[in-house]
Formats: sequence, structure tokens, C-alpha cells
Amino acid sequence: MTAKAEKTPLEERLISLIKANGPISVADFMADALGHPHDGYYMSQTAIGADGDFTTAPEISQIFGELIGLWLVHAWLEMGEPSTFNLVELGPGRGVLMADILRAAQLRPGFLKAATLWLVESSGRLRHEQQKRLRDQPASARPVKPLWADEFADIAPAPFLIVANEFFDCLPIRQFERAGSGWRERLIGVGKDGASLEFTLAEAPPPPDIELPPAQQCEPGAIVEIGAAGAMLAGDIARALVEHGGRALIVDYGHAGGVGDTLQAVRAHKYWPVLDAPGRADLTAHVDFAALARAAIDAGGGAWGPLPQGRFLERIGLAMRLERLVAGKSDEEAARIASGARRISAVEEMGEVFKALCISSPDLPPPAGFEAL
Ligand code: SAH
Repeated sequence: MTAKAEKTPLEERLISLIKANGPISVADFMADALGHPHDGYYMSQTAIGADGDFTTAPEISQIFGELIGLWLVHAWLEMGEPSTFNLVELGPGRGVLMADILRAAQLRPGFLKAATLWLVESSGRLRHEQQKRLRDQPASARPVKPLWADEFADIAPAPFLIVANEFFDCLPIRQFERAGSGWRERLIGVGKDGASLEFTLAEAPPPPDIELPPAQQCEPGAIVEIGAAGAMLAGDIARALVEHGGRALIVDYGHAGGVGDTLQAVRAHKYWPVLDAPGRADLTAHVDFAALARAAIDAGGGAWGPLPQGRFLERIGLAMRLERLVAGKSDEEAARIASGARRISAVEEMGEVFKALCISSPDLPPPAGFEAL
């Protein structure tokens, strides 16, 4: 079936809503396409894995989660081994990353004993998968009963260790286009046929509180993205870390600020037209790490990075872990493990476009992997 022929319930609803109330922002479109309680992408589709639409670093190689698990244990030691703390994952997907983290953390039973595990997840079907996967872990790697939260703000206060992989890229962004007369917000309206979604521009200029570069410095047609939801969450995280202590590790594909349209849809491991069949395709935008770091620093926190994912993993022990893992394995198995390690770290694969940012309580030393060289 072609993309256009497939009209989803969400698309029908958005079309009538837009006909009644006018065009909507890219952020509202993203929020509905991904998070609508019934027809949203994460609520209704098999998103992650070979049978799904995309795959992620922890799904490719266990080394990713194991090294992050050791990184978290190291951070806990730096924090003075608090006897209780919140181990938080934002957007845990199928629970693979957390299972690998917990397995690696068995090295320090005190860490597992002190941890209250919080999974921030909006999708009921993914919560179910996370529960199943964590239940299947050996008892020694299941420190505590996991707790689920809808939002980071719902978590009871305590020192925090937070991890988020490919979570911030799902948070809604707004887009602004340099038009003839200055910046205009890029909106989603209904085409002349009255039956399809299409991009359009706002008639009025954006309100002055939206920080955009001077229009005359940008080419006509240039697009700037503002991820207010991500920056707000980074600020909330930093405030919690300042108050209660701890660190957050944010890994995602993104850039350190700049101009460009990064909104993209993916379905069955291929790019997909962003406005087609909303709710049936994954929709993401590159993370503006400079904006997250700025929000964290404005809230009184420390920010380290962003560092390319490959370099971060190498600095925290990728080569050593790989060597251990392949020891004694058949040639075929060793090649499979080495290929996974390469995919998550090589510059031409996920090593460069993905980046790691650490937000920290300001009293802690430079985090492992982020030290100046
Ligand atoms: N971290 C996982 C999965 C990434 S996919 C991995 O690396 O494999 C994004 C995850 O974030 C999914 O679990 C999705 O359901 C969740 N998610 C997306 N938007 C969310 C939101 N606003 N609140 C809570 N969870 C969200």
C-alpha cells in the first residue's frame, strides 16, 4: 500500500481539527503522532527491533548497556555511595538497556541494594515489555521492584542517577522558516483537496519571546528548530540534581546547535514521508545538545559534552570489554560481537552522529569519559 492511500484514524482526526481550528504546530503534530493515548505511535506500534521500525544501540550490542552500567556505578561511588538513590531511565523501550545496566552493576551489590528503579514510560505496551524483560533477569540483578512513572517530575526526591537513550529525540519541537518578511512558524494545515496534511506557514511573525537568529543572517527557506520540551526537561533534571545530587547521561543523535530541518519519520527501517500515516511511523528530530546544556547550566547544574558516542564508549572501556566478551567464543560468534561493537562506535556508523551529554550536580568531579584530554 502506498503511503498516501493509508489514512490513519489520527490523520482523519487531525484533518477535522485543523479544518475547524486552523493549522497546528509541528510540536502539536509530533506530540499527537507519537503520544496520542490510543492511536499514538508508541502506544499502538511495534516500534523497536527487527520486526519494528528502528533499532537502537542497546539492541545492537550488549556492550553499550554494560559500559553505561559501569559508568553509573562509578558515578555512585563518586557521590559517596548514597544508601538510597533513584536509578531512573527515561524512555526504556524494550528494557534491554536497563537489563544490561543491572547485569553489569552486579559488580557492586551495594549499588543494586541502594537503587530504587524508576522507568519513565508513556506507552502501556512498552511498560509491559519492560516488566517482562526485568522479571526474566537473575535474582541477583533485580535489586528492587521497578516503579513506573509517566513523567520525571512524578519521581519521589532522592539522589539521582538518570539515563536516557534515544528519548530526547521524541520530544516535540517547533520549526520556524525564514520567509520573505522574516521568521514564520512552520505549521501543518490541510491541502486544497481537503483530505491530506501539508506544511504551511503562519501568517503572523512569532512572538518575541522565541529566540531566533537574526533573519537577515539566514537564507530564505532556512529552518530553525526550537525544542522547548527537551530544554525544559533538561532544566528540571538539573534542578533535581542540584537539590538532591547525582548525574544524568543523555545519549541521542543530534548536534550542538545550528540551522536545519531535522524532522524525520522512519518506518520498517526506511525513511518515510513525515506527514503520511501519522501514528504508524516513528517521528524524531535531532537533539540540540547546546540548548540542553544551556538549560542545565541556567538551572545551576553542570554540563559536560556533548561527546561523540564512539569516543565516549572508547574512553569508558569499549576495547577492553570487547576483548573479554570475544575470548573463548567461536569465530562466528566473535565476529558477530565485534560487528555490533563497531556499529555502535565507528564514525561512519553510530559513533559520530550520536552524542553523549552529562548533566551533573555542580559539586561532582568531571564525569568518566568527559575529562579534558
Ligand atoms: N531507550 C530505548 C528506547 C528508545 S525509543 C532504547 O535505547 O532502545 C523511545 C522510548 O521513549 C520509548 O520507550 C517510548 O515509548 C518512550 N517515550 C517517548 N516519548 C515519551 C514521553 N513523552 N514520555 C515517556 N516516555 C516516552
